[in-house]
Amino acid sequence: MKTYIGKIHLKWCKNCNIPLLGRVCEVCGSKAEEVELTPPGDPRLGFQYDIDFINKIIEEEFGAKNVLNGKIILLNKLPGNEEAYEVIVDGEVKYLIYFDENKERWKIKLKLNGARDLIEKGAYKKIIKIKNDVVEVLKNRKGSVLRPGIVEFTDDIEERDDVIIVDENNRVVGVGLATVSSEEIKNMEKGRVVKVRFFIKDDEENYEIRKVYDSLEEAFDLMVKANKGVIDAFERNALGFIKNTYERIKKPVMVAFSGGKDSLTTLILTLKALGKDIDVIFIDTGLEFEETLKNVEDVEKHYGIKIIKLKGENFWKKVKEYGIPARDYRWCSEICKLEPLKRFIEENYEDDVLAFVGVRKYESFNRATKKRVHRNTYIKKQINALPIFHWSTLHVWIYLLREKAPYNKLYEKGFDRIGCFMCPAMEMGEMDKIKREFPELWEKWERVLREYAEKHNLGEEWIKKGLWRWRHKL
Ligand SMILES: [Zn+2]
Repeated sequence: MKTYIGKIHLKWCKNCNIPLLGRVCEVCGSKAEEVELTPPGDPRLGFQYDIDFINKIIEEEFGAKNVLNGKIILLNKLPGNEEAYEVIVDGEVKYLIYFDENKERWKIKLKLNGARDLIEKGAYKKIIKIKNDVVEVLKNRKGSVLRPGIVEFTDDIEERDDVIIVDENNRVVGVGLATVSSEEIKNMEKGRVVKVRFFIKDDEENYEIRKVYDSLEEAFDLMVKANKGVIDAFERNALGFIKNTYERIKKPVMVAFSGGKDSLTTLILTLKALGKDIDVIFIDTGLEFEETLKNVEDVEKHYGIKIIKLKGENFWKKVKEYGIPARDYRWCSEICKLEPLKRFIEENYEDDVLAFVGVRKYESFNRATKKRVHRNTYIKKQINALPIFHWSTLHVWIYLLREKAPYNKLYEKGFDRIGCFMCPAMEMGEMDKIKREFPELWEKWERVLREYAEKHNLGEEWIKKGLWRWRHKL
């Protein structure tokens, strides 16, 4: 499956400390170095919000401040049920953040160079100092740190915390998971204290301090310059594809704009290729964020176009009739999203309509198997064409930054998927974010859940643990 999607080759200029899409940095001429990522690996660009968010987790856990400031970070979502991201900084994965569903908060796992940065920036918490002769024993292999090998430890370690292991000269030698708390270590004479995840080797990769920018904007500007040729080529390809497809099919053209980055990119490209004589459609599901509705207006103004707004059946009324939507019961997307578009197309186009859509193959396996031009299975008159099918998330962001495009402000609040504010496909970490950032919206949804839970005797767990996301069989 992985080979079908194709591995994304993320690269980095270690000199300018910015991500690259091509083989060389177009600013300094340095050769691009490959970044090792967990596949499929389509990382998103971190904004200041993400940097502040991770800085805060780091500071709470280890005491080091502002570790990521002035650097470009990318976040690579890992496959799996738990929401977890690799944090790419300085051209390598230095941390992993994940939402701990039991503790109901975000936690961090360290890699060696990440731990070195933290010590560099004054980390003073969750540190275990071990004897130098124990370092020699653990070198080149993973194992455990046992109680007798410990010289000193900080008093803030909880069981299952990530800890930094240093030698007697305060050099980082390892990172791992504490199996006991500081309190317990005090009372132990033998036994395991840390399960080591990474430990230094003899042939150790070098650690260097990388460039820091005065602001993230400055770093973004340089990233745009350093990738100019690659982005030009991708744009040329997309414009050619749009023109050729239109010439071949010769039908009215439509762009479905969702308020997300991919559909915005597709819209910009379609306007450049074919001009303004196209239909741009936005479907309001009734579950939209204010930011998304505002973005629709911003885009209209910025490009001097009129966007046709369609409204689906009212979700809040329909939920009383159909019940709570679930992963295995997604009536909402059909009723609130697909139906209004289908109706619009039936009523407004005599026969086929050519729709340019912002689908990218890296989004999922399901999408990777699509043809670049194909007939929509649900709306038969709609022929889909995918101009940015081969773009990665980073291509999209560099393009939008270069175009100074009015993208949705939700991206600057840590969102990587723009859609309904509530969806059964959401993970616990995403819901936690919405509770934090949009408490009144979430409360509106919880009222619906509570009413349903009371009626069917489902209890608080069903709401709080997100069990409503699977269909409740009556
Ligand atoms: Zn460079």
